[in-house]
Amino acid sequence: MTTPADFPAIPYPWQQTSWQRLLDQHQSQKLPHALMLAGQKGIGKSCLARALAQFLLCLSPRSGLACGECRSCLLNKANTHPDMKLIGPEEVGKAVKIDQIRALADFVSKTSQQGGYKVAIIEPAEAMNINAANALLKSLEEPSGNTLLILVSHVPSTVMATVRSRCQLLTLLTPATDQALPWLSAMVEDGDAATLLQFADGAPLTALGLLEGDGLEQRREFQSCMVTIALGQSSPLDAAKKWLDSDTVELMNWLIAWTHTLACHLGAGDVERGQLPDEALTPLVKGLDPVLLYRYLDKIMVSKRQLLSGANPNKQLLLEEILMDWRALARLSFGRARQA
Ligand SMILES: [Zn+2]
Repeated sequence: MTTPADFPAIPYPWQQTSWQRLLDQHQSQKLPHALMLAGQKGIGKSCLARALAQFLLCLSPRSGLACGECRSCLLNKANTHPDMKLIGPEEVGKAVKIDQIRALADFVSKTSQQGGYKVAIIEPAEAMNINAANALLKSLEEPSGNTLLILVSHVPSTVMATVRSRCQLLTLLTPATDQALPWLSAMVEDGDAATLLQFADGAPLTALGLLEGDGLEQRREFQSCMVTIALGQSSPLDAAKKWLDSDTVELMNWLIAWTHTLACHLGAGDVERGQLPDEALTPLVKGLDPVLLYRYLDKIMVSKRQLLSGANPNKQLLLEEILMDWRALARLSFGRARQA
């Protein structure tokens, strides 16, 4: 099993199809100059990007992976490979700046030092501010031979459209529970892998990350708060106030995971990911109107995009509205269950 810190990076079990596709493209010399790996956060896109970069730079790859031992691999391992560039925000949550992209343009225009590929990974691509994204366009429009730019994006819709359209898109799906759960269970041993995966909305690496710090505790608290709001035992406005200082985008992810948990009970649901945190919610789920649930999910998605767009919406109002909507949805569902 591998985490992005391991070297060489080995694609996760659920990435085998995508990985094979990339190897085939390479074999037939059809790798594009720019690739965008898109998908939910925490499913291993970064690992796949590194695995590809390390493989392309390796001097003697073995069975479709970097050897981990050649001169090029050792440089990569030490993060000092002259033909490899990693670009990301200098601080977590900050923007990728134009200076970083200008340095990249310089890297792209030069010939490779080892005579092979040059690879740059930009992660997350949505962290580029508008000036940085505009500066990148030039490198995308005038690619030099044997250069691969890999853009990793958790929210591709927020990457500038002109940048997006110049990349070949590889969408990585969140793994199905029967792929993710065995892997996660092996990683956490005694932990409750199914609950972790549910909290992480199916993203295995996010699930694993919950075991660090008070992540799991926070998620349990959030979930019990959603339950008490649904049951009318606590106020949506109080909850909004309490969470105002949290990372609001992350909260939207929690709300999305919560809504997916409920959605798992509707139609052909994924029962393992749909465990209810409280039996008191069983009638709510019975009375849930799928149309209203998905409308609610849409609203959360729109709010998340607003928060990411830099439009700077009023966070308190936004949270209050979403939590009051949750209360209204729950009340309606309990009512429908009673009438049924
Ligand atoms: Zn090697």
